[in-house]
Amino acid sequence: MAMGYRVFSVGPLAVNSTILYSSGEAFIFDPGGEEEKLISFLREKGLKPKGIFLTHGHVDHFARVKALKEIFPKVPVYMNEKDKFLLTQELWEGFAQYLNAQLNPPVDRFLKEGDSFKLGNLTLEVYETPGHTPGGVVYYIPQLKILIAGDLLFRGSVGRWNLPGGNKEELINSVRRVLSIFPEDTKVITGHGELTTIGFERKHNPLGWGL
Ligand SMILES: [Zn+2]
Repeated sequence: MAMGYRVFSVGPLAVNSTILYSSGEAFIFDPGGEEEKLISFLREKGLKPKGIFLTHGHVDHFARVKALKEIFPKVPVYMNEKDKFLLTQELWEGFAQYLNAQLNPPVDRFLKEGDSFKLGNLTLEVYETPGHTPGGVVYYIPQLKILIAGDLLFRGSVGRWNLPGGNKEELINSVRRVLSIFPEDTKVITGHGELTTIGFERKHNPLGWGL
């Protein structure tokens, strides 16, 4: 059965929203805007959504969770509980409006380090990577060698640590851990903009030196 993933650049901040699919079922990650792009892909491919996963609790990443839940009310939303306090925050005044975001999205289940989920022939592994936010996680799919990294890591740089709950030391540890444990040819879906690979970041990321 067909399996794979598609990354959609959504909203004014070019959030990378991902659909992972296998055997006619799909997981949706970080629906940060323009959910119609996601919905038409699901329809086109005949995919049944089975979960909505957040990498972290920032408004630009959860912006359209509520809108998706109206269309798919039975699909559970997952995130790490430590980011729950962020779900009511727009971070800057007017930011939610700018993003066309709905605050306080429903979260059905909380995730933690070591959790794993099956999607057809694929496995989704959860790693806690605090620093950008306290409850930030990354998702690894070993069969496809892809890492959905949220705002932990960008091409040639790292996420900010000066937003509520951010912590520089934790961020450094999380980035170095991620760059150490996943294979070099792992494709990294960053939170915004260009994608990257673990191998590229080991060479070019300021925190990859010496790994
Ligand atoms: Zn963020």
